[in-house]
Amino acid sequence: MKLKHSIAATIFIPLSATAAPKNIIYMIGDGMGPAYTTAYRYYLDDPKTKVVDPTVFDALLKGMAHTYPDDDTVVTDSAAGATALATGTKSYNGAIAVDSHKKPLTTMLELAKAHGKTTALVATSQINHATPASFAAHNESRRNYDEIANDYIDNKINGKLAVDLLLGGGTRYFIREDRNLVTEFKSAGYQYIQEFEKLDSLNGLPAIGLFADIAFPYAIDSNSERLGKMTEKSLKLLDKQNENGFFVMIEGSQIDWCGHSNDIACAMHEMVDFANAIKVAKQYVDANPDTLLVITADHSTGGLTLGANGEYKWLADKVKQVHASTDTITKALVSAKDLSTSWSNFVDFPLSEEQINTLESAKKSSEQALNKAIKRILNDTTYSGWTTSGHTAVDVQIFAHGNGANEFIGSHNNTAIADKLIHFITQ
Ligand SMILES: [Zn+2]
Repeated sequence: MKLKHSIAATIFIPLSATAAPKNIIYMIGDGMGPAYTTAYRYYLDDPKTKVVDPTVFDALLKGMAHTYPDDDTVVTDSAAGATALATGTKSYNGAIAVDSHKKPLTTMLELAKAHGKTTALVATSQINHATPASFAAHNESRRNYDEIANDYIDNKINGKLAVDLLLGGGTRYFIREDRNLVTEFKSAGYQYIQEFEKLDSLNGLPAIGLFADIAFPYAIDSNSERLGKMTEKSLKLLDKQNENGFFVMIEGSQIDWCGHSNDIACAMHEMVDFANAIKVAKQYVDANPDTLLVITADHSTGGLTLGANGEYKWLADKVKQVHASTDTITKALVSAKDLSTSWSNFVDFPLSEEQINTLESAKKSSEQALNKAIKRILNDTTYSGWTTSGHTAVDVQIFAHGNGANEFIGSHNNTAIADKLIHFITQ
């Protein structure tokens, strides 16, 4: 979708009289409601010490955000959530930086580019997935993946491509039969890499790295150091590129996906990856005080609760004993001759006789039934509760650090986060 740029139409928001930060690092934990950061604290804690140690999230907490969309529901999806967080305007579920009338909304990344900053998007999902898309594309539907990818080339700001650095997945949407966007990026002067192991070979901007056909595999099934590494690399590339500074949006994309799957161990591994990325960003801010780091979520996913089934327990040590996603365990168990042996390849606590029988009969019924039965065992054993396979409307946290961080103290609408950042970007 083509965008008419009306950059002058920025709303004035009175802020305290500090000079605007030069660099902005905006991190979004997709689906990361408050229960996730709490779970992460217990998950990380050393049970041998008496006190539960605070985490990087506790160190940076500033306020809360309301996530409702401009729709007939108070429960947002990631597209409407990201549109609010990127543009300061609420829209309907599914909207990619367009308003309720499907008219394009100027995003903070576009404004950053127009104001001479270097811009970047980093995600562990496909880079044209709802959250990153809402910063640099405009579409009436998040499902139009090809059109969204096209926007990364077609949507020009003062004649230039809007995003100087893209790191994530999604090769299949960029290299297609009808159009090869990677070739187009290369002709526009972008370095291109497709192997995550070669991340360090990127030595300048502009650049695009597409490391998966669609998304990265779950952290629990691969490694928990993908977002941290991409964050480190992107900050190295963005650092001192440009006297006007930079804007980067970094998404912990798959916290949400583990939440949809009601898979607690999967979610904790994604939290570890996201938290590592935050630590890298925080270090950057500490070394470069003219930088603002803001971290939030678009919504919470799954209705996660720590404690379930009437018991006063949540067993982080049991969560730590699970070493694969329920999807991976299901696939292995479907073809396994001996369920308990296959189970023990992924989970340190053994199955009871009764649990083996339950899994055997679920397996006879369908793969889906088996998947459900596995989740039941893992959630019951760890006392993890879930209310839905979708999203919920609870407020999410805002974390901030660096120049301007105190602007985020208190209870805010999610659009106010964008308004404040846009004010800093356009000052
Ligand atoms: Zn979701």
